Amino acid sequence: MIRTILLGPPGAGKGTQAVRMVEKYDIPHISTGDIFRENIKNGTELGKKAQAYISKGELVPDDLVVEIATDRLLKDDCQKGFILDGFPRTVFQAEKLDEFLAAHGQKLTTVINLEVSPEVLMPRLTGRRVCRNCGASFHIVSMPPKKEGVCDICGGELFQRPDDNEETARNRIAVYDKQTRPLTDYYQKKGCLSNIDGAQSAEDTFQSIVDALEANA
Ligand code: AMP
Repeated sequence: MIRTILLGPPGAGKGTQAVRMVEKYDIPHISTGDIFRENIKNGTELGKKAQAYISKGELVPDDLVVEIATDRLLKDDCQKGFILDGFPRTVFQAEKLDEFLAAHGQKLTTVINLEVSPEVLMPRLTGRRVCRNCGASFHIVSMPPKKEGVCDICGGELFQRPDDNEETARNRIAVYDKQTRPLTDYYQKKGCLSNIDGAQSAEDTFQSIVDALEANA
């Protein structure tokens, strides 16, 4: 049973690795960022509240995030395990997650911490292009689509996430350092942190993740 968190700064490759993990383990990928983007697209109240923070690269308030994440974790498909991507992002959120898991008799397998040096992150973020239709992620230099602006998988239109512009991306990295990086200590102290070099190729990073998950399963 795999119950894991993908931790790491924006651009570390959490989304890319999550896609591979879903394929291998057939467990749900829970991205709070994806849930917010879906709500923004659909014009929901939650989407309206979250948009103001997301567009500046700030964190959405803890109470909103904890509610959507724990609601999602209550769904039946999470009985077979889960991959959390982008949650928790603060110590408060991590404590709430611990309370939730304890109340449901669940334990994390391990927390995967993707380590990537800051100079690698910015070009990864600003060069990222995402499919408007299926959400697949490409990169204009390191993973270009076969046809410019078109998704290889579904033929949908590729676009740049508004928060991947240079200024917002820079702020997201700063927010990570200040508010989310302390989580590495939090999980280290609990003895459940696996540090993985996220600057390796996507294939090698995936293999390191699989090794860490299976060593702790
Ligand atoms: P992501 O797709 O994980 O990069 O998330 C995009 C944006 O959604 C972040 O920059 C935050 O504004 C917001 N967000 C996603 N997850 C969280 C979270 N756990 N706590 C606070 N804000 C979040």
